[in-house]
Amino acid sequence: MIRVQRPEYDVCIVGSGAGGGMAAYQLSQAGAKVVMLEAGPEWYATRNSAMLKWSYDSPRRGASTPQRPFGEFDACDGGWEIEGEPYTTAPGTQFRWWRARMLGGRTNHWGRISLRFGPDDFRRGDLDGLSPNWPITYDDVRPYYDRVDRLIGLFGSVENLPNEPDGIFMPPPKPRCYELLVKRACDNLDITCIPSRLSIITQSLGSRVACHYCGQCNRGCGANANFSSPSVLIAPALETGNLTLLTNAMVREVTVDDAGRATGVSYIDRNTGQDEHVRARTVVLAASACSSARILLNSKSSRFPDGVANSSGTVGKWLTDTTGTSVSGFIPQMVDHVPHNEDGVGGMHVYMPWWLDNRKLDFPRGYHIEVWGGLGMPGYGFMGGIQRYPGGGGYGKALKDDYRRYYGATVGFSGRGEMIPNDDSYCEIDPDTTDRWGIPVLRFHWQFTDHEYNQVRHMQQTFRSIIDAMGGEVWSPMPSRERGYGIAAGGTIIHELGGTRMGDDASNSVVDAYCRAHDVPNLFVADGGPFVSQADKNPTWTILALSMRTADRITELRNQGAL
Ligand SMILES: Cc1cc2nc3c(=O)[nH]c(=O)nc-3n(C[C@H](O)[C@H](O)[C@H](O)COP(=O)(O)OP(=O)(O)OC[C@H]3O[C@@H](n4cnc5c(N)ncnc54)[C@H](O)[C@@H]3O)c2cc1C
Ligand code: SF4
Repeated sequence: MIRVQRPEYDVCIVGSGAGGGMAAYQLSQAGAKVVMLEAGPEWYATRNSAMLKWSYDSPRRGASTPQRPFGEFDACDGGWEIEGEPYTTAPGTQFRWWRARMLGGRTNHWGRISLRFGPDDFRRGDLDGLSPNWPITYDDVRPYYDRVDRLIGLFGSVENLPNEPDGIFMPPPKPRCYELLVKRACDNLDITCIPSRLSIITQSLGSRVACHYCGQCNRGCGANANFSSPSVLIAPALETGNLTLLTNAMVREVTVDDAGRATGVSYIDRNTGQDEHVRARTVVLAASACSSARILLNSKSSRFPDGVANSSGTVGKWLTDTTGTSVSGFIPQMVDHVPHNEDGVGGMHVYMPWWLDNRKLDFPRGYHIEVWGGLGMPGYGFMGGIQRYPGGGGYGKALKDDYRRYYGATVGFSGRGEMIPNDDSYCEIDPDTTDRWGIPVLRFHWQFTDHEYNQVRHMQQTFRSIIDAMGGEVWSPMPSRERGYGIAAGGTIIHELGGTRMGDDASNSVVDAYCRAHDVPNLFVADGGPFVSQADKNPTWTILALSMRTADRITELRNQGAL
């Protein structure tokens, strides 16, 4: 039996990551009575971060555990596999689905690379016709990017590059030694290399203090100097007195009345196993792109037999992930370096935005390059095995000397590129599998095409040429076509977008230009689901800007009495 809760809230938000946190912040500031449901427990970096722990504080030296696949100190409860919460893949599909189960979702440990999409990214239909235009332009989103920049804060540099809009930046940190060498090699190869753009504050912002360069951002920042949804958005939203937080609340479906309007959501209280229901005048799904699609597809009724907001039959369709591949190498000129201070933020200080012209290439769209290396805190798996270095290994003093000589003499490059949406990459409900609460799970279908394979081959060749220009040796051979040139499987870059596509035509899209469901006037989606296409940029800054825009629209409609 489902217990119906009172009172009725103005807005119910499902999920507390980037999209949910921003919607809660905006709507509670605007005076709406908001309830937020989050499947995981409470977690605040300011209280729970392992920021200043040493590797030797742990018997595992920080090695990963099943609950923390990215290392024991990493600020994410969840992972590729969650007990009792399976997903399935169609035969022949390689897809992995990362889920964070905690207040703030993946924003607690994300990389904080905070890039705006550019004007071209919203009008790819006009430019190459391989995916539709968005129903909005860069100019529609620009004011929200500006507001997100001011509210959350990020560093970067004004560069005036095409399709790489500048933001309102704090000063960036200086490049580290190995990053200067990377930049020199890139300058020689005509590859644009500029200061990175990360949502880490290098100057104080309101009550938040500036970063002190401990380099541990993925553990969550105890000083609140980087962006995470709980500390930067949800905590101030709670201070308004307008936000009610329900954690350990696993949402099953959106409920609707006879007129086809959303009435709230039903959920399982994970503490008691009891089915519950919250009532709300407006529902905002921000459970992450695939989870929101799952909730909609599972919300079946006589009025919506194929799931809520799915009259077009496109819920779950046109899923994309960022393309990715990595190459690392050994740089002899960095052996036996002079000890120096490489403190900095927990992430790269330089990066390479897309710099080439597709008319001269055999693939559409582009990629950016992320840089890694340097003198990170030694922990489990440190340096990837000393035996790989020339003459490295052995015992006692010689072994210690080798570690000192080779410490910091490695660099790596990861490409992050644009996948084109295709009809063969989508999710649907698996008719045979349910999770521990009896909720049907997602089944994924995935296919890359030559657009992605050719792009990733270009990444591999480029990274090898940079290492070569640095006088280095690449650790691995060039992957073959049979191995997809080393392309990461779908989902593994953890930038999944689509599934509730935005569009003007209700027959082939799920939500309108404000992320409001075509079929249900008081239902909105505020995560990466509405994205029409990817970009050669990471998506979260755009999720934040669009969620803010959607929240403003809800406030406007509420003020008009239309919700
Ligand atoms: C290691 C890592 C590094 C990354 N680095 C970057 C980066 O540098 N730049 C960038 O732009 N992006 C990055 N990303 C991606 C970024 O984290 C996501 O784009 C962003 O967090 C998406 O926000 P969201 O609100 O859609 O989803 P999430 O942050 O995943 O939040 C969704 C929340 O909804 C909850 N939820 C799900 N289903 C339900 C349900 N049924 N009921 C109730 N609650 C539910 C989840 O528990 C979760 O807390 C990275 C991701 C990872 C994992
Ligand atoms: S590097 Fe800066 S932002 Fe990151 S955890 Fe340390 S103090 Fe916080």
